[in-house]
This record gives sequence, C-alpha cells and structure tokens, in this order.
Amino acid sequence: MFCLRCGAKLKRKASNMQQCLSCGFEFYDNPKASVQVVLENDKGEILFLRRASDPHRGMLNTPGGFVEVGETLEEAACREVKEETGLRLKSESLHYIGSYIDQYLYKGTNYSILSSAFFARIGKSKIKISKESMEFLFYPKNKLPFKDVPIKSDVRGVKDYLKKFDKKGK
Ligand SMILES: [Zn+2]
Repeated sequence: MFCLRCGAKLKRKASNMQQCLSCGFEFYDNPKASVQVVLENDKGEILFLRRASDPHRGMLNTPGGFVEVGETLEEAACREVKEETGLRLKSESLHYIGSYIDQYLYKGTNYSILSSAFFARIGKSKIKISKESMEFLFYPKNKLPFKDVPIKSDVRGVKDYLKKFDKKGK
C-alpha cells in the first residue's frame, strides 16, 4: 500500500491503521458500507436478481450495493432498489433487519464490507431490471435459493428477515 497523499510507502502501525513513513498520513482500514433490500411481493415471495457481471456472474443476489458519500443507509437502499428494479420506495417503508460483516472480492482486491439489510413490501409492482442483472425471480419462502446466493451477508439478511418479521412463513 502507498500513501494517498504523497505516494510513499505505508507501514502498518496497528491492526486497523497504516502510516506513511514520509509525510505521516494515517490510513485507517474502515469497512465499506453497503445495503441490501429484501423485497416481498403480494404473494409473500422474495425477489432475487441474477447477476450479469462478475464477481459471481450468473448467481443470485437481493437488490443492493455500496453507500455513496452523502447518503444515509435508507437513501442508498432506495436508490439501489430504483436502479436495479425500477421500483420507487420511500425511506419510511424500509424496515431494518440487521447488519453483517462480509468480504467482497472485486478486480483482485478484497474489500471489507459492513452491510445493512432492510426489507420492504412491494405488493404487485412491475419490476424493470438494469444491465446489472440478467433476470429477476420471485421465490416462495419455503423454496429460497440460498445455494445459488454466493454473498453470505445476502443469505443472512434474508434468513434474519424470516426469523424477525415473517411469522407465518415457517
Ligand atoms: Zn505520505
């Protein structure tokens, strides 16, 4: 790793911090914030998207992505849902499920992720996927495709959703 400010070498000073030997810049290893949204339709089915690009091309995930600078978790969740499904959600319609630690390997770098999961009901809405996905699929809660969902935090978010909110789905 090299210094973001002057380009000199960084030296690890603590488990979560590296310091530049030349200018003193301190680089902290904070996780990247991401969001995941469990969407349930009027039949009680959960929405999954088939990924169109790597990592995990062809596998499934729930809608979500990285939080941008200046966004709250709720704003990021609404934006990602709009981008990936065409649906407009309000922040008030999101229910917090939990937060999860994960890793995300992207172009050879392994990023530490802190993912926050929400759920929302979408009734009978029409889905319009983006280029990020090949198709969308709704699964009934007794047939959820966990073996095709490689992102562990996605699986945990859906499972915790079932545990915490879905009383009749068992
Ligand atoms: Zn420096």
